[in-house]
Amino acid sequence: MFEAFHEIVTNVSKTIEKYEAELDRPVIGVIPAYFPLELIEAAGGYPVQLWGNNLPIEKADAYLQSYCCSVARSVMELEMREISHMVKAYAFTSLCDTLINLREIYRRVFSKPTLELSIPITRTDAARHNYLESVIKSVTAGLEKITGKEITPETLGEAAKICGRTRALQRRLYRMRSKNPGLVKSLDFYTAIKTGWFLPGDVYNRMLEDLLQKLAGMDATNRNSPKLLISGMVFDPLEIHKIIDESGACVVDDDFANGWRTVSKGDLNTENLVEGITDYLFGPTPCCCLYNPENDRHPYLLDKVRESGADGVLFWYIKFCEPDAFDRPQLMKHLKDANVPVSFIDLELTMTNFDAVRTRISAFCEILERG
Ligand code: SF4
Repeated sequence: MFEAFHEIVTNVSKTIEKYEAELDRPVIGVIPAYFPLELIEAAGGYPVQLWGNNLPIEKADAYLQSYCCSVARSVMELEMREISHMVKAYAFTSLCDTLINLREIYRRVFSKPTLELSIPITRTDAARHNYLESVIKSVTAGLEKITGKEITPETLGEAAKICGRTRALQRRLYRMRSKNPGLVKSLDFYTAIKTGWFLPGDVYNRMLEDLLQKLAGMDATNRNSPKLLISGMVFDPLEIHKIIDESGACVVDDDFANGWRTVSKGDLNTENLVEGITDYLFGPTPCCCLYNPENDRHPYLLDKVRESGADGVLFWYIKFCEPDAFDRPQLMKHLKDANVPVSFIDLELTMTNFDAVRTRISAFCEILERG
């Protein structure tokens, strides 16, 4: 049932080249996270999301220090080795200091155009609107220049339908998983979500529709397994999901930036783009990279544990990710105080030895099984 998804995720370059030729649209590499793909679609681009990869770092270290996160280092490695030759331009958000600096490095080192959706750090919606108004103007003008196509209300509306449909279908997959723990293995689940980073939206939506139809009516067999909720930025490396599956645990929900924090976003309001993008960026799910004092992660995560029926929370920490590292101790304490078992694994996307992670996961599962 998941073979086609695995095939795409293991053949990313081939997939992108195939659809680039079919669509005849410029490929725009989106560096995580929360850049509204609708804008790229509406401008006639082909967005592909680059959340890092497992390439050994050989060239990017010339520009990025080794204590820079492996998301940034591995994305840069792609461009330096010319593996991402099909990417015509890059779209960034100002999610963290690393990404802000990475865009500056791209501007100096590479000749491809770059755009940045700068996310405001301010308390009120009015101030966010104010700031984003000029940012959106500059981003849309930049995209139109890259693709040579104008963004119109019609193309925006069409793009919002496609991207909104993707997230709605992904939310259905999330709901199926939490209602029926064990129905979908973790490796299959995240491979299905990851596939969407590389395919044109309508092609991906058809694959998801087909998958959801096949899963409807199926039942899980291992209902007594420990149930995990995972929190982190990026759900890679996928090998760790294989370890979770082998341990017998079921993931019932997540709080990944490229998982539920993105999937939970509703349809983009294209009637009022500034309002639409403000809501898109700051809601509905809180994130360590977004300053929004009205959307506190502590009660949010605890509610999520209770709603999903998770037995414990596993924090999935990409080494040197400052925003995640700053939030994690308080979040863990808040959950522990509420008697929710917690553990964490630290990892790099480029890692090849998973022994320590395997030990940590199986020890955590044993604790959960003992109750
Ligand atoms: S993993 Fe953390 S530090 Fe790295 S790009 Fe993402 S938010 Fe920034």
